[in-house]
Amino acid sequence: MLESDLIEKLHDCQKVVVFTGAGISAESGIPTFRDAQTGLWSKFNPQDVASTEAFRKNPQLVWDWYVHRAEFVRNAEPNPGHKAVSTLQACVADLTVITQNIDNLHQRAATRNVLELHGSLFRLKAFVDTDELFAGDTSPIICHICDGYATYDECDPYASKEDLAAIELRAGPVPRCPGCGALLRPDIVWFGEPLDIDILDGATRLADTCDLLICIGSSLEVQPAASIPVRAKLAGATIIEINPEPTSLSSHADVFLQGKAAEILPAFVNVVWNNGETSC
Ligand SMILES: [Zn+2]
Repeated sequence: MLESDLIEKLHDCQKVVVFTGAGISAESGIPTFRDAQTGLWSKFNPQDVASTEAFRKNPQLVWDWYVHRAEFVRNAEPNPGHKAVSTLQACVADLTVITQNIDNLHQRAATRNVLELHGSLFRLKAFVDTDELFAGDTSPIICHICDGYATYDECDPYASKEDLAAIELRAGPVPRCPGCGALLRPDIVWFGEPLDIDILDGATRLADTCDLLICIGSSLEVQPAASIPVRAKLAGATIIEINPEPTSLSSHADVFLQGKAAEILPAFVNVVWNNGETSC
């Protein structure tokens, strides 16, 4: 599927970025946000269950929605696409995954260096309501455990970050920070929220300095994530795209491989890096 001189060029790349979207997890059976809206969830709009306003209005509803989504993810397994990324990571000097997914499947496939642009279902953080911050006359105290606004009197002086990290996204009442009592929420980017600036900066720097970017399973419709592969192209990186359908990137990619990530990526890694068996 590739010319031999291109294979040689790819094989020599040492700073690699693998950029992934929902398509790489589709083969693991993880439904998209909209596909998960079945049964009792079908009457809710995404903004009803994935925004600051929604959590302020009804934290339990939002919590229950993410418990529902996490069930799909816990029952899923990394597929050959995720595993091929790990194989490739063992073959090159430097590989970072920049993912739009919140499902932790890259990490479960033993891939290291994963930048989660949209956060993770499997980390919690304090719900910080900016309306509340600017409504009060006094500056709130920042909790040393959750970095939320500790406005409660129930602080446990012996609580630690480990106590917070041990709390999971599970069915039941919305949990609170053991240190200050602030409500906890999944550490993901909701509609209308900005991306974590440090993660976005890191992704941008990688796009500017990598020599190969492999874009997998992303329709490239969500900004600013979608700008990362374009940025790498403009900075001179070789771009490989693997997607079931062409996207806005396809005509600019050095190679567009049409198909499912779980089938194409293992074959691609095998052709260029001998599946990790030689020349690594
Ligand atoms: Zn706290």
